[in-house]
Amino acid sequence: MEHKSDIVIIGGGVIGCATARELSRYKASIILLEQGGDIAEGASKANSGIVHAGYDAVPGTLKAKYNVLGAKMLPELSEELGVPYRQCGALVIGFAEEDRKTLGELMDRGIRNGVEELRIIEREEILQLEPEMNPEVLCALLVPTSGIISPYELTFALADDAAINGVTFRTDTEVTEIHRREDGIFSITAGEDEYLCRTVINCAGASSALFHNQISAKKLKITHRRGQYYLLDRPAKAPFERTIFQCPSAMGKGVLVSPTVHGNVLLGPSAEDIEDPMDTATTQEGLDFVMDKVRLTWPGVSLRTNITNFSGIRAHEAGGDFVIGPVDGCPGAYEAAGIESPGLSSAPAIGLALAQQITKDFALEKKDEIIPYRRPTKPFREMMPEEQAAAIREIPLYGNIGCRCEVVTEAEIIAAIRRPVGARSIDAVKRRTRAGMGRCQGGFCSPRVAAILAAETGTPLIDITKNGGKSYLLTGTLSEQAKRSKKV
Ligand SMILES: Cc1cc2nc3c(=O)[nH]c(=O)nc-3n(C[C@H](O)[C@H](O)[C@H](O)COP(=O)(O)OP(=O)(O)OC[C@H]3O[C@@H](n4cnc5c(N)ncnc54)[C@H](O)[C@@H]3O)c2cc1C
Repeated sequence: MEHKSDIVIIGGGVIGCATARELSRYKASIILLEQGGDIAEGASKANSGIVHAGYDAVPGTLKAKYNVLGAKMLPELSEELGVPYRQCGALVIGFAEEDRKTLGELMDRGIRNGVEELRIIEREEILQLEPEMNPEVLCALLVPTSGIISPYELTFALADDAAINGVTFRTDTEVTEIHRREDGIFSITAGEDEYLCRTVINCAGASSALFHNQISAKKLKITHRRGQYYLLDRPAKAPFERTIFQCPSAMGKGVLVSPTVHGNVLLGPSAEDIEDPMDTATTQEGLDFVMDKVRLTWPGVSLRTNITNFSGIRAHEAGGDFVIGPVDGCPGAYEAAGIESPGLSSAPAIGLALAQQITKDFALEKKDEIIPYRRPTKPFREMMPEEQAAAIREIPLYGNIGCRCEVVTEAEIIAAIRRPVGARSIDAVKRRTRAGMGRCQGGFCSPRVAAILAAETGTPLIDITKNGGKSYLLTGTLSEQAKRSKKV
């Protein structure tokens, strides 16, 4: 089938969704194509969730520019979109005199990039700020403007805002080829479908080089660099107030220990180059690497409260920098390729820059009216008892708890399914509501969530998936099985 629009965006990660939101303010028809069963299926769902202040990127690079700009936009944007964000600060710690030199270099870079309030501090002050820290620590770079955010909730909110302002989102749509015809129109192949447009934006994360290389003679090379994590259950008291980094290396910013915006403790990531961009497995070796590093920061760490492990894939471009803007030698094509860390921190600034360039190049007019974003209602678990009582009076399904670990109600699960870019799988509900994010990891609530999904979307229960594609939970009905066993 043939579909026509002005603009096609490939990839529903935080970059594609930030770009879609900015462009939704202009008079243009826009379709976003995502291969996953949900948006935020790539690096945007599996990262450290740090809003880096901008001290790490080399001055003059696109990483430095967009990191600093994006980190300045995120506090206000998160407030506007109702996305959990906290400026908790960070420490980059050193254990030897040679680390002091590295920290000094990071501070200089930070100052040149425009990061404020940076300071080198010594052991005594570090231990006062963070008593759980290894007492052998020598010095640290204190970064008060570093923050934490929920990366997938940011992506969902950007997408919802874009959708209510006219962007069409197509999930389960894998693009295989982009071709620029002689008349300047792009033909984009996805399964049996062909998408025709005059502007294409490649935001395909780990696959961004694949599409770039189909339409440009100047080739990109992306290495897939996996990062593995431990996620610990919410402790009664957070071991660290701030994000704690060790000194960075050529492979990345190193292993961190950090609070998350939801009160968990995150340990990781590792950094291993792998062939398959979809290989998000965790391995004993990768996790052992993480723990060895974590023990140096936090000797008292215990894995007794570990509730899950996961990994994400960084898209590292051989040039070492982000590739953003018009695609070399292919008019009408734009890209944000090789967006590894600090891509999450940079996302709003990258989306804005791409939209500014495209609307200028195509003389797109601003819409007369924007539909304002309605922030999702406050989570039930965060309401005061009187607010909870009022919520139940208004919508009785607030009185039915779907997920006990994270205290998520049926009313909230239904609201997640009904969002503009709504949840269609158990994991999609999990990431929008936290049902299944707790200690039992969905052991109790998954059947309930599946039943609500089936009822809300009119899908037979047997067709509900864990995470799109063929990740079915049920293999058949009891009556079918009975028939089967009789045959046997
Ligand atoms: C381990 C790790 C830790 C990180 N930590 C941080 C951090 O703390 N702070 C920070 O600022 N940044 C961090 N980052 C970087 C950040 O996560 C990324 O820069 C950001 O998520 C990239 O967004 P994206 O939209 O470019 O890519 P993605 O989120 O990967 O999105 C690309 C999308 O394109 C889709 N796609 C791919 N191929 C196709 C196709 N053929 N057809 C249709 N769709 C397709 C994918 O399914 C995916 O949804 C980290 C990354 C990793 C992996």
